[in-house]
Amino acid sequence: MSLVSLEDRARSSSGGAMRLVSEPGALRRLAALVDELAPTGEVVLVADLTAKTVDGGDVDARVQAALPAGRHRRVVRVPAGAHGATLDERTVDEVCGRASGAAVVMTVGSGTVSDLGKVVAATLGVPLISVQTAASVNGYADPLSVLVRNGAKRTVPSRWPDVLLIDHDIVAEAPLALTRAGVGDAVAIWSSPADWYLACALGMDSALYGSRFVDPVRDLAPRLADETASEAERLASLIDVLTVGGLVIGDAGTTAPLSGVEHLASHVLDMSAIAEGAAHDLHGAQVGVASVLASALWDVALEDERLFDLGPTDFVVPDDLEGRVRAVWQPVDPTGVLGEECWHAVEAKMRRWVAAGPQIRAFFTHRREHVTTLRVLAGDPSLPAAALRVWGAAVAFSELSPPVPPERARWVLSALPFMRDRLSVADLFVLAGRWDDRLFDRVFARAAATGGGLGV
Ligand SMILES: [Zn+2]
Repeated sequence: MSLVSLEDRARSSSGGAMRLVSEPGALRRLAALVDELAPTGEVVLVADLTAKTVDGGDVDARVQAALPAGRHRRVVRVPAGAHGATLDERTVDEVCGRASGAAVVMTVGSGTVSDLGKVVAATLGVPLISVQTAASVNGYADPLSVLVRNGAKRTVPSRWPDVLLIDHDIVAEAPLALTRAGVGDAVAIWSSPADWYLACALGMDSALYGSRFVDPVRDLAPRLADETASEAERLASLIDVLTVGGLVIGDAGTTAPLSGVEHLASHVLDMSAIAEGAAHDLHGAQVGVASVLASALWDVALEDERLFDLGPTDFVVPDDLEGRVRAVWQPVDPTGVLGEECWHAVEAKMRRWVAAGPQIRAFFTHRREHVTTLRVLAGDPSLPAAALRVWGAAVAFSELSPPVPPERARWVLSALPFMRDRLSVADLFVLAGRWDDRLFDRVFARAAATGGGLGV
């Protein structure tokens, strides 16, 4: 995709709200952009405490040097705890307070700082320039922020940045772990759209599936695995895939097109690590490994199990479902609070399933067409595995840092349908009475055939 069409896409996806400047040396255009958005007044830079370098210099200093000459500026550092910055209520309020009086807010950083900047600018009612310093997630180019509310991570509407500035020279020097995590977040494109399509087609998602939210990312994604491309070309492809991913999420108004079973697995890994006070890997790194597993699950559903050869009456809510949901979360939270919360979500999902009878019957009447589409959207674990391998990113659970041991990885797979109210292919296995060890063995074996799954 050429730069011009990507800039046009950004403009149209955001309804004209966001301008994209993505190129090597993009920082040179900063002064003009600041003058255009806020001709006078103070520029408040919101940044984290992590030192970043580009071309032997400090990134924050380079950004400040690129501001209009003589313009007042103030730097607000985001307070960080032991595990980096956490966007809880206190942190958001504190940064909003310290940034007040700004004529324009500018964030310099990766996903967390970018998400915070959207909330700060929305609260203060001033323009926002987001300077993206790593290609680590797809969340820069959307009007959403991941915040911590009452201790739980929630994706909430915030606002588009007026300008998303991606200087490829800066991103090229981001820590390799962040770039590899970006690849992991990007390869979800080879599994997540199938879960979204399934939920919409079965009447389990109020949104209407639209290929326009999926195809732009699918078209670009194979470039991630292009071993003949130069490093700079590959990085540009990664930036494009992630940026377009953010745009389609913003356009669709839901993360569902790019968040299926593989994202569930990453959330489950986070939750179990947090409950134990243990470390976990970056979001994207976990999503990458889980994307291979999710593709394997889809492959097994479509090929070995021929799940859609069953009839609508073969899918029945199991009598022991509540007990199974509570049991799966017991090791993570012995108090039962998490099990209770997850049971409410699963119960709502199953109520919806029962109410969706007519759409479910219609789905199975037209199953041939649906299965044809699903086969296109998912079911080839070699695609995410190949892209991850080209970048040296983790493919198997044992390659995450810290490594996820086999028994934990099996538990993660087993927990997938028992967490949230969004339907995925895992729920169909539960309803078909086939969500069991025999199936898990098959899925891990399929993932292992591409170098993914449990690992060594
Ligand atoms: Zn993600």
